[in-house]
Amino acid sequence: MRLTAFTDVSLRLVMRLAVAREDERLTTRAAAGMLAVPYTHMAKVVARLSDLGLVEARRGRGGGLRLTAAGLRASVGSIVRELEGSGDLAGCEDDPPCPLRAACRLRGALSTAREAFYASLDEVTVESLVSAPVGEVLTLLRESEKPT
Ligand code: SF4
Repeated sequence: MRLTAFTDVSLRLVMRLAVAREDERLTTRAAAGMLAVPYTHMAKVVARLSDLGLVEARRGRGGGLRLTAAGLRASVGSIVRELEGSGDLAGCEDDPPCPLRAACRLRGALSTAREAFYASLDEVTVESLVSAPVGEVLTLLRESEKPT
């Protein structure tokens, strides 16, 4: 099982925002540059995380991205569950659909395994991911920021 690139970038962003200085004005473009993802991809991530109330995107002079209090407290499990969705892990309903799907126990077993994966991440908060010494490494990204 592998996270989608969208979920991975979302988690990179919330971790980086969790260590932002109070006076730091981190733009979507700057975040894309420092986290090594295309700007258009980052813009979509910012829009989705804003919709979820995890990130606040302020426009105009002095604007920028900020992690909300809810974003800081959020569990990684809740974020991943929201972004990954609940679709099948295998191609059960692909075109053509799997011929075994009418009587397949593997499908349910995979679903149960995924829920266990999410449940283990429910115990991890964004805040806990950036506690020392990890937070110091993330802070260094500020210094290598190269907006594209
Ligand atoms: S074997 Fe089962 S889990 Fe795999 S694709 Fe077919 S229905 Fe889905």
